[in-house]
Amino acid sequence: MHIAPVVGPEIESGYIRIEGDRIVELGAGAAPGTSAGASAGASAGTVLIDGTGCLATPGLVNTHHHLYQWASQGLAQDATLFEWLVALYQVWAAMDAEVVHGAATAGLGWLALSGCTTSSDHHYVFPKGRGDLLAAEIEAAREVGIRFHPARGSMDRGESQGGLPPDVVVEELDDILAATAEAVDAYHDPSPSSMLRVAVAPCSPFSASADLMTESAALARDKGVRLHTHIAETLDEDEHCVAQFGLRPVDYMEKLGWLGPDVWFAHTVHLSDSDIGKLADTGTGSAHCPSSNGRLGAGIARVSEMLRRGANVGLGVDGSASSELTPLAGEMRQALLFQRARYGPGALTARQALELATLGGARNLGRAAELGSIEPGKLADLALWRVDGPFTAAVADPVCALVFGPPPPLARVLVGGRSVVEDGELRTVAQDAAGRAGVAARQRLLRLAEERGVSAAEEVHRSAGR
Ligand SMILES: [Zn+2]
Repeated sequence: MHIAPVVGPEIESGYIRIEGDRIVELGAGAAPGTSAGASAGASAGTVLIDGTGCLATPGLVNTHHHLYQWASQGLAQDATLFEWLVALYQVWAAMDAEVVHGAATAGLGWLALSGCTTSSDHHYVFPKGRGDLLAAEIEAAREVGIRFHPARGSMDRGESQGGLPPDVVVEELDDILAATAEAVDAYHDPSPSSMLRVAVAPCSPFSASADLMTESAALARDKGVRLHTHIAETLDEDEHCVAQFGLRPVDYMEKLGWLGPDVWFAHTVHLSDSDIGKLADTGTGSAHCPSSNGRLGAGIARVSEMLRRGANVGLGVDGSASSELTPLAGEMRQALLFQRARYGPGALTARQALELATLGGARNLGRAAELGSIEPGKLADLALWRVDGPFTAAVADPVCALVFGPPPPLARVLVGGRSVVEDGELRTVAQDAAGRAGVAARQRLLRLAEERGVSAAEEVHRSAGR
């Protein structure tokens, strides 16, 4: 087993020993007291990972997602971000807890199948009277068994207030703050082994008021939880911010008290040198979502320059409706290719791309002490990639095979030492049923939208050019 621990030297042939939910040891050769390749524990409560033929990496960390969008994939295929949002807000207004549970089950299962062991989710659409949407996705995460960081999102700046979303999908400021505080109190677990932490996440400058942004920051800091929002995704947003607030997005966020080590932003595509400096100097993180940025024609984030300047960057798949079926492992490749296409072949290495997907993500979520690398004392969240297949084995370097190529099959995905995936199959939930739950969620959402007079079928046809 080749071990790429992200922190510390790689081990070409080694072992990992786990006790409980923690990594206690890794080393070269066969584990002491065993024959090579043994999988039995040397003592009670100890598990040795048998990864013969595998590349072991830390479990991947997804730092930006909208799981509900699993139910609205394939729509508005050729739209800009603002066109895409305007086309989909009315569809999303019809979602209920059953849609969210089905979409989250499929979406989280899909993430686990690409080596993801921790995912955040930014849920910001809470139409009235549609059930407890946050509870629905939390239940799905418990069933799938991956570590979950839901961000209670919100929008209070509808069309009538100069915002982009229709008024039907926005909430009142006081309702948002009360529901967000309630979500933190009900679910947030700050313990080091935590499977669930809640963040506070107004949606974006063009859908959240300045009051919502500042009140959210005060609430998050009072509760000791993290802050997340979308920033600098497109040039349209840049123009909106300058026109409405007289400031570009990062300057606006600075004015609202939204830069700091407890904040991570999604996208940060359109940054000036000064913006990059502000993110780096304040310890503000970014979730880079290259497939979504490509799909919406948003642009290419200046990731390699941000890394050089000392800013933290993790990866995100973004909502599935703007990056259909994106596997998190594939975002390492997409990030690497984007940076090299823009800056040349030295812009990002395979190891740097792996670090973005692991330790960079753990830093964004405030979990770098527990997650993101294979080190004694850290949580046993691991991905074991099969790199001995007849095709994959042709690549000399297993880390290159993982990052440059399509994601290899997974022998195992462990979360806190527990198998979530084995031999390429989900083990916590029935894989086919998880997939079907996502299809049923789409059918239900489109039917509910239809009942409200919103035809997604027309949107599909327009996208497909029919
Ligand atoms: Zn997003």
